[in-house]
Amino acid sequence: MTKIGLEIHCQLTKLESKLFCPCKADYREFEPNTNICPICMGIPGSLPLLNKSAVEKATLIAMALDCSTPSKIAFFRKNYFYPDLPKNFQITQLNVYGNTSIGWEGKILVGNSKIRIRRIQLEEDPGRLIYEGVTEKTKLTLVDYNRAGTPLVEIVTEPDFETPHQVREFLNILSDLLENLNVSDPGLEGAMRADANVSIEGGSKVEIKNIGSFHDLEKAVHFEITRQQSLAERKIEIIQETRQWDDGRKITISARTKEEEAEYRYHLEADIPWVRIDDNTKKQLQVHMPESISSKKERYVSKYGITSQVADILSSDRYFSELFEKANNETNAKDIANMITTDIMGLLDTREKREMSKLEGDHISDLVGYIKSNKITRASAKLALDEVIKNGKQLSEIIEDLDLGHVSDESTLSDIITEVIDEEVKAVENAKENPEIVNFLVGKVMQKTHGKADPELTLALLKKNLGL
Ligand SMILES: [Zn+2]
Repeated sequence: MTKIGLEIHCQLTKLESKLFCPCKADYREFEPNTNICPICMGIPGSLPLLNKSAVEKATLIAMALDCSTPSKIAFFRKNYFYPDLPKNFQITQLNVYGNTSIGWEGKILVGNSKIRIRRIQLEEDPGRLIYEGVTEKTKLTLVDYNRAGTPLVEIVTEPDFETPHQVREFLNILSDLLENLNVSDPGLEGAMRADANVSIEGGSKVEIKNIGSFHDLEKAVHFEITRQQSLAERKIEIIQETRQWDDGRKITISARTKEEEAEYRYHLEADIPWVRIDDNTKKQLQVHMPESISSKKERYVSKYGITSQVADILSSDRYFSELFEKANNETNAKDIANMITTDIMGLLDTREKREMSKLEGDHISDLVGYIKSNKITRASAKLALDEVIKNGKQLSEIIEDLDLGHVSDESTLSDIITEVIDEEVKAVENAKENPEIVNFLVGKVMQKTHGKADPELTLALLKKNLGL
């Protein structure tokens, strides 16, 4: 049996400052090594000051993942030397004096399978190493400490996954959840990273590190299962080790044999006192916990009569569900939801596009209203959407500017229909035996009117002309 476990690192990107100092948590906008201070650089004599909001946001994640949460938390030093770690130790958490990490024993449902969460801990991110240079001789390693000390939540699962596909599903659910809790923006580069451990048939556990995207993680796990199966078939021993994902060659390669935990010389971080999280604080957090994705979905189905499938897509995306909530959805809620999930999601499929978009909720309700009252065709509505996204103008203005109004004037339409009938002699002949072909002729009229012809009127006039 295949067993896969994950360790996911999520940055709390919605925080103002780093975990133990006032430097910005959002390090991405800075020139290298300018978002630093004596605390995150580990200058002797500096003392860490715990960011209260980070504890609260991490606790929110633990609660949302159904974890038990502690009455007090403790921090530990994990000692190791690496150039991206200026202090030579990382401040993290460890459950050695009872459960003192942010959360433990939670669960998340992926389809019908329960994935157990072993532990959640709050820790600091190290800096970043950047490799430059072209040849072996001119190779340079640069270090940027801007990221050092950024708040990170590590989520460790039990080895409950059986397929790479399940891993991918889980990560999608988790990133939706983090976005919905407003604690992290998983779309930001490096905001969500994962390591996986894989074993087959009760054999040794192999850890895969250095995986940059969910897509690659799925592929890396798949590769590792195949590699281990092939070794097992040839009766070659699978050794416990850490392997790196080589993105270029799409394979895992041996990196080092796995360290034992004791080698990190964990010990209690004496510069940060144990922090109490009382029941009152937890209750307060619970009150402010945003509606869960599943209850939002239920509400969409029961209140607005949206299909379960559409509600599923809409509720799991924070941006689009907010757009839906902001649209005037007292009437036409179902059509608004459909327009968001079919047309708008396609037009705004990247973070950059969403940030640039001028589309507001009211635009969508207006547009659906225009379609329903036959003032505009669906094809024209798409053009109008494109335009609103670009300039945010009122719909009435756009329809006038682009001349998108319906062609529902009978004499104009009749002229165009006569033209089509003259041009499509063969189709006209066949249409008498095969009524399906009439739709083809409607399509031709649509082409000539750039999608603006009233479809019902066109069909009626065509049938009349053809004597059907
Ligand atoms: Zn700092």
